[in-house]
Amino acid sequence: MDFQYTDKMKDLVLQVREFINSEIRPAEARFREELAANPWETPPVMDELKAKAREKGLWNLFLPKEYGDYSAGLSNLEYAPLAEEMGRSLIASEVFNCAAPDTGNMEVLAKYGNEQQKKQWLEPLLEGKIRSAFAMTEPDVASSDATNIETRIVRDGDDYVINGRKFYISGAMRKSCEILIVMGKTDPDNPSRHVQQSQVLVPTNTPGVKIVRPMKVFGYDDAPEGHAEVIFDNVRVPKENIILGEGRGFEIAQGRLGPGRIHHCMRLIGAAQEAFELMARRVNEREVFGQPMSKQGSVREDLARSWCEIEQARLLTLKAADMMDREGNKVAKDLIAMIKVVAPNMALNVIDRAIQVHGAVGVSQDTPLAHFFSYARSLRLADGPDQVHMMQLGRTLAKQFA
Ligand SMILES: Cc1cc2nc3c(=O)[nH]c(=O)nc-3n(C[C@H](O)[C@H](O)[C@H](O)COP(=O)(O)OP(=O)(O)OC[C@H]3O[C@@H](n4cnc5c(N)ncnc54)[C@H](O)[C@@H]3O)c2cc1C
Repeated sequence: MDFQYTDKMKDLVLQVREFINSEIRPAEARFREELAANPWETPPVMDELKAKAREKGLWNLFLPKEYGDYSAGLSNLEYAPLAEEMGRSLIASEVFNCAAPDTGNMEVLAKYGNEQQKKQWLEPLLEGKIRSAFAMTEPDVASSDATNIETRIVRDGDDYVINGRKFYISGAMRKSCEILIVMGKTDPDNPSRHVQQSQVLVPTNTPGVKIVRPMKVFGYDDAPEGHAEVIFDNVRVPKENIILGEGRGFEIAQGRLGPGRIHHCMRLIGAAQEAFELMARRVNEREVFGQPMSKQGSVREDLARSWCEIEQARLLTLKAADMMDREGNKVAKDLIAMIKVVAPNMALNVIDRAIQVHGAVGVSQDTPLAHFFSYARSLRLADGPDQVHMMQLGRTLAKQFA
């Protein structure tokens, strides 16, 4: 693996960085004001920023080049430093149409959707006209084991009827969220626990879809996307809305989570880098006990340790992205599991140190640190808790050395 970014990557990184600094950061205050007035609507400033990013060709950069016309033509490795740049701002990913959960949903539709499903849902998502959500987790069962889910998808004539309760469904609070990819069981009695599930497309305005409430994360509602509790009460959709076919839900979930996980890790490296730079500037500016904080040994150690940890996680993420490009997501699964454990924990450590040197303002609304911390902490749970990745990785390793 070549550790140097190519000229193409360097150029794109500069373009994304420049756009974030000149267009997005100055618009963040307006974004917050507009959001406060209408929490579940996309703030108008976001649409203006999206139009500008698209005009510059900084659009849908996440979708790997194997998706042909749908893709911006980048590999996972080429996208990694761009996602890192985006992760430095809490709103940048969406500006470039590269925000979760839509990226994962677009990848599912591009990979597994039929022509009709692509036309109806993938194309408007790629255009940035609508938003989407992925509904798997249920409050009543341990959803880190996807075979536990209880939502029922029952065939009735030419339709499927869906009943169940989900929560923490990211994106589903937003008014422009028009489509949900719902995971449930079509064949709960099948002796093979991995073919009981299916995934169906459910338009959010279908009768019986009830958006109950926004779930919070350490008090943040993460508007405008939010994390919704959703009830499916006899929701009826045509049988054509199934993705790939009955019994393929688990397989699709596995296919979706690989790329989704690495994108989160890339963004977290950006959040940690941003936190590091805030910390490094702060310790030069602020004096404690008669000298700048940067002269204190413990502070220098915090800087040094953070720099080491960010670079370790960055290199591991690049290695995973490179393996995905060269050998495919399945072969790269151990590396993806490794970074999914490493990146959120690294980010939490770095952000925590940055909070500490900031004193009270570190936990306030006046820096992005508290929100970054909440995002990084969630990612020790979302897209698979640490323990599940370690269980799978440990199993592979034990077998390898048996
Ligand atoms: C901010 C946020 C956004 C989210 N967005 C979405 C979304 O868009 N769509 C969606 O479907 N879900 C979403 N989730 C839910 C998330 O994916 C689940 O919380 C996660 O999969 C864990 O499921 P659970 O909450 O049911 O925990 P459980 O399955 O009950 O697990 C609880 C704990 O058990 C422990 N555990 C589990 N397995 C093992 C093991 N093998 N060994 C040891 N310990 C173990 C772990 O510590 C784990 O954290 C989101 C969650 C958050 C916090």
